[in-house]
Amino acid sequence: MLLARITFVLSVLSLASRASEIVISEVSSQDRLSGDLLGVCMIITSSLSTASHVFYPTTPQYVKDNEHAFVSSSEHSACSVEPGSAEDVAVIVGSITRIVLFLESTDPISHHPCHSCKSSVGRARPSRLRVADMQQTFTSPRLQISLSRLNQLKFGSEADTVEVGPGLTWDSLYQQLHPFNVTVIGGRTPDVGVGGLLLGGGYSFKSNQYGLGIDNIVAYELVLPNGTIKTVTESDQDLWFALRGIVTKFTLKSYAQGKVWGSISVYASDKLEAIKNAITNFGKVADTKASLVSALIYSSGKVGRHNYVSVLRRSSTSVWNFDDFLNIPSSYRDIKMSSYVNFVKGLVTQVTPAHWPLLWVRPTRYSTSILDDIVDQVLYWGSKLTALDPKVQVLAGIEPFTSGLLSHGTPSAYPPDRSQIYFPSGVALTWSNSSLDQVMAQSVRKSADDLQAAALKEGQNVTHAVVYPNYALFDTPLEAMYGNNVDRLRELKRAVDPANVMGFAGGFKF
Ligand SMILES: Cc1cc2nc3c(=O)[nH]c(=O)nc-3n(C[C@H](O)[C@H](O)[C@H](O)COP(=O)(O)OP(=O)(O)OC[C@H]3O[C@@H](n4cnc5c(N)ncnc54)[C@H](O)[C@@H]3O)c2cc1C
Repeated sequence: MLLARITFVLSVLSLASRASEIVISEVSSQDRLSGDLLGVCMIITSSLSTASHVFYPTTPQYVKDNEHAFVSSSEHSACSVEPGSAEDVAVIVGSITRIVLFLESTDPISHHPCHSCKSSVGRARPSRLRVADMQQTFTSPRLQISLSRLNQLKFGSEADTVEVGPGLTWDSLYQQLHPFNVTVIGGRTPDVGVGGLLLGGGYSFKSNQYGLGIDNIVAYELVLPNGTIKTVTESDQDLWFALRGIVTKFTLKSYAQGKVWGSISVYASDKLEAIKNAITNFGKVADTKASLVSALIYSSGKVGRHNYVSVLRRSSTSVWNFDDFLNIPSSYRDIKMSSYVNFVKGLVTQVTPAHWPLLWVRPTRYSTSILDDIVDQVLYWGSKLTALDPKVQVLAGIEPFTSGLLSHGTPSAYPPDRSQIYFPSGVALTWSNSSLDQVMAQSVRKSADDLQAAALKEGQNVTHAVVYPNYALFDTPLEAMYGNNVDRLRELKRAVDPANVMGFAGGFKF
């Protein structure tokens, strides 16, 4: 879905409120020139309902709102705003839009809001995997809009639906649904946010059976850039196809959920061939109730030791029995029946929080030779980059899905072509030494490009294979993710967001 991401950037904003109409003239020229966001924060403070709160530097909640799971992505802002209702989000967005329009009408060039200030929206905790933030130094003032208070969960008025706030994390959502023996289609590891994952697409352990996260959304509550609140359903053709605004509530399909079977195995490097065969075989079995994620991790000159394979088999009706994996002697194995939430919580990420994370993948199909190439990439970059700094971590995620992955949803901005599926192929790097930033960025690009070249050489038709937005680098061309939909998305932006307010946000620019 378009819009996917909005590290909502803004600037000198605000004024306006639910209570009193915006008085544009109250924006002083000093505000405009210096981007005095502190003044803006104070205006917002007086505009919001008691459901919301504005926090200022040094308060613990301000720190929490601005921090990120990857320390390098933590931010500074003039204040953090925690809207507690869609109405208050509307107040904030509407205010921003009016200020943008006002500033542009008075001095469109030199006082353009984005010249001096930024703001962000999101849960402000984890998970951006892209390097966008690396290029923004976070030195410019910004306003942080944290959606953490929008963490509501209730069963929907329609059968088999739940209404959830974007501020929840997947593990907390699964935990709350657990007593009711239901679940929804969402993230696979703890501490990833509902909002960003769904708006980018959403790979789930249940995607083989039910499709992407976005394919399981029944309705959105959306705050449009003009500050109005709209419920978007399939009947709203354009906005259903591509959102623009801030989502304050998702209505999701829910599914009965019993215990699941599966967990993690760790294999030594001498088992790599057997693991590759097992992965290839998994791709041949169209078992929609099974799911597999594997990580090939570089360690001391080898890919192995920390290879892990997390597997999930939903029930005894599952066809795939994972014997290909279970027959390989493992150095660690924890396979059991457990609740879905415990299964997900057991999947601790391998990424050290304090590091820069960088992932760039090209879509390919996991043939035997591509898996060989991926292993070679991990070995090559592992050896090269750990020579520069032994703390660098190099891994490749292997995420195969069955062929029906994209057969569940209605047309949406992403994926632009539901007839073909490809899998993410490339290395993920983490590091903490900022002098390595450039070399890391170059390495991750080269690795993905080499894998794409290998796939082409093998005869895979991947030249126009679409990139998954949630795994895409900040400068990925829009066409690479949204294909022929880009023109329609730009048109929609012009119609819904003529002031391009959401364009001041981070994320991909239309
Ligand atoms: C450890 C880890 C595991 C992951 N596992 C998976 C996985 O299993 N499947 C998968 O598909 N992806 C996975 N990802 C990738 C993940 O989908 C993206 O990182 C995604 O951006 C996370 O969303 P977030 O809400 O946590 O992050 P945030 O940084 O809070 O948000 C990401 C972007 O979405 C925008 N956004 C958030 N909420 C809203 C909203 N309500 N309205 C409008 N815009 C909004 C933000 O402004 C921001 O630009 C994983 C990432 C990590 C780090």
